[in-house]
Amino acid sequence: MTGTTSGQDRPELARAHALALEWLASLDDRAVPPAATVEQVTEALGTDLPEGPTDPVEVVEHLARACEPGLVATPSGRFYGFVIGGTHPAALAADWLVSAWDQNAGLRALTPAHSAVEDVAEAWVLDLLGLPPESAVGFVTGGTMANFTCLAAARDEVLRRAGWDVAGRGLVGSPGVRVVAGEERHDTVDLALRYLGLGAPETVAADGQGRLDPAALRDALAQHDGGPLVVVLQAGNVHSGAFDPFSEAIEVAHAHGAWVHVDGAFGLFAAASPTYRHLVDGVTGADSWATDAHKTLNVPYDCGLAVVRERAALRAAMGMHGDYLILDEAGEPFDKVPEISRRGRAFTVWAVLRALGRSGVADLVDRMAGHAAAFARGIEAIDGAEVLNDVVFTQVCAAFGSDERTRDVVRGMLADGTAWMTGSRWHGRAVLRVSVSNWSTTETDVERSLAALRAVAGR
Ligand SMILES: *Cc1c(COP(=O)(O)O)cnc(C)c1O
Repeated sequence: MTGTTSGQDRPELARAHALALEWLASLDDRAVPPAATVEQVTEALGTDLPEGPTDPVEVVEHLARACEPGLVATPSGRFYGFVIGGTHPAALAADWLVSAWDQNAGLRALTPAHSAVEDVAEAWVLDLLGLPPESAVGFVTGGTMANFTCLAAARDEVLRRAGWDVAGRGLVGSPGVRVVAGEERHDTVDLALRYLGLGAPETVAADGQGRLDPAALRDALAQHDGGPLVVVLQAGNVHSGAFDPFSEAIEVAHAHGAWVHVDGAFGLFAAASPTYRHLVDGVTGADSWATDAHKTLNVPYDCGLAVVRERAALRAAMGMHGDYLILDEAGEPFDKVPEISRRGRAFTVWAVLRALGRSGVADLVDRMAGHAAAFARGIEAIDGAEVLNDVVFTQVCAAFGSDERTRDVVRGMLADGTAWMTGSRWHGRAVLRVSVSNWSTTETDVERSLAALRAVAGR
């Protein structure tokens, strides 16, 4: 060590630190929606490429000043839009180090530190989620790329079993791969399949909560010709929070030789809670699982986890064995993800797991689901409001009479600013969706948000 870095010799870091603390301190009181539009932020930034250098302190000041009004308080305990997730303090602190350390996570020799942390975090994630301990975990950018990574391994493996080597021969002329998914799968499953050259999946009916109907799956596969087959299931429907019936569906799919993939972007973490674990009963029997660390686990963007039981299948799909790379017998971290160079995402996952421990993660999940249940009770008590889903986990879908009135409530909530809830459509109706995904949400946040909702809906 050669001396310490103080605010005096790295003033831009001291300034960024102060600005970050100001932002975090503003979260409790600021309006959750942004105060400025894209155009307003662009104007505040200025669009002329500078002809010469600017002092880093000035750059940081200018960036923060121009952007602050255009920031959404997604880390606020009152942000319930989409499925976003906040940032646990330990993960945020670790993420600052990740940027300062600037490690390239692709190769063991290039960063023994990240490789060690990734190995430990991999084992912890598998343990917490109750997944087979021999599985490989790829630390990718999010749920979309986790689905992509797992489905790439699936595609290559089912074709390999049919005697076709995708890596060598590509897809042109290959046997067809049949992909079957529930009708309420997440759109990113289709996106991943598109990236993989597999086209749109064949869909199987779902029930009133959006759960794939195992009898419909049985019917769909009854005449299956034994060719390459992938079945995609879901842990956590974005509208209802519902979980597919894993035991039954996996048994049917495996009877036909399918690779079963589970999209569990936010819902797979139910497995970490003794109270909610029953929702994922049987999920361990699948072949791959996609989840997000930046949703339920509350690490900062971006981090998804691609989990594949058969390590060799993932390595065959994602590995790149150029001579110039130092290859280790344990395999290289880049073998498990689409990228070669990448950010040290495992550092933040390790940090939040170290900070929370097994009981802390269970408590995190329990509190989110508990707040969702409180929202459901509060909404039901509003005149003319109706909760449309069985609130089994973290998602609440509500309507306020006609579609027009529901859309008015969505707009009214955004104008009010106390909380952010997303407008969506589910089963042909306009809905207001509440997703509780942030570690910092308190009972007070839920009460404040419900008070705002009561006021808006009462107008
Ligand atoms: C969020 C989500 C995804 C996509 O994940 P990203 O992290 O946004 O890429 C996929 N599936 C489900 C069920 C999701 O909730």
